[in-house]
Amino acid sequence: GNLLDINNLQVRVEDKVILKDLNLTIKEGEVHVIMGPNGAGKSTLGYTIMGHPGYGVDKGNLIFEGEDITDYKTDARAKKGIFLSFQNPEELSGVTLENFTRTSKNTVTGEQARFMTFRKELYGVMEALDMDKDYANRYLNVGFSGGEKKKSEILQMLMLQPKLAILDETDSGLDVDAVRLVSKGVEAFKNDSNSLLIITHNTKILEYLSVDYVHILVEGKIVKSGDRSLIKKINENGYKDFITSDLSA
Ligand code: ADP
Ligand code: MG
Ligand code: MG
Repeated sequence: GNLLDINNLQVRVEDKVILKDLNLTIKEGEVHVIMGPNGAGKSTLGYTIMGHPGYGVDKGNLIFEGEDITDYKTDARAKKGIFLSFQNPEELSGVTLENFTRTSKNTVTGEQARFMTFRKELYGVMEALDMDKDYANRYLNVGFSGGEKKKSEILQMLMLQPKLAILDETDSGLDVDAVRLVSKGVEAFKNDSNSLLIITHNTKILEYLSVDYVHILVEGKIVKSGDRSLIKKINENGYKDFITSDLSA
């Protein structure tokens, strides 16, 4: 069935309308990719689905598993199985990566994970991501390199096992090896019953994933949807074919 239905969504940041009449349906098991020029509203879409308070829904709604979540707070959405990996992960001094991840997981599942069971699982995922175990005791993202921050986002995703994971440029600013590890993490995450919304410029991360739909977002609107062949077109010609004169006027 449909996991997420976005209907006629209009979103404002402060007093500026960013997303305009946006419609998108993500079914269980699907991988959707959003591409678009800088400033198109891609991160805004991610924040809006996650329920960031700075992003006001003026019109339309968000339906998750048949339930209208438009007015739900972020933590309620996380409990329903929505996860957002930030484009710029924040540093959280005073909270270790392990404690942060355990608290998140306990909050999302509503259960207290056993300390050692949790740690074993965490170390397993860290190993798969080629992260040193010492990072578990470091403050979240503090002093982490760009690549390490992105890996720590993928780690959260693998530990939380959301139904819908939104990855906002998780692959940008990473070297080839880090991109490969992130894509491996994403592949390991993906199964028939979860869905991905991947915002990206870098199509390396998509190489090993089966992509169901690609959407081009320009000036707050989805101007084109298609299959993965759209990625090649964008890589070759950029977005100019999708920016109509009256949009850029
Ligand atoms: P993208 O991720 O596609 O590059 P964003 O969603 O980050 O685009 O931004 C879309 C537009 O919204 C841009 O014009 C940006 O300046 C504006 N915008 C986004 N977030 C904010 C914010 N917190 N405050 C003010 N303007 C914002
Ligand atoms: Mg941007
Ligand atoms: Mg962005």
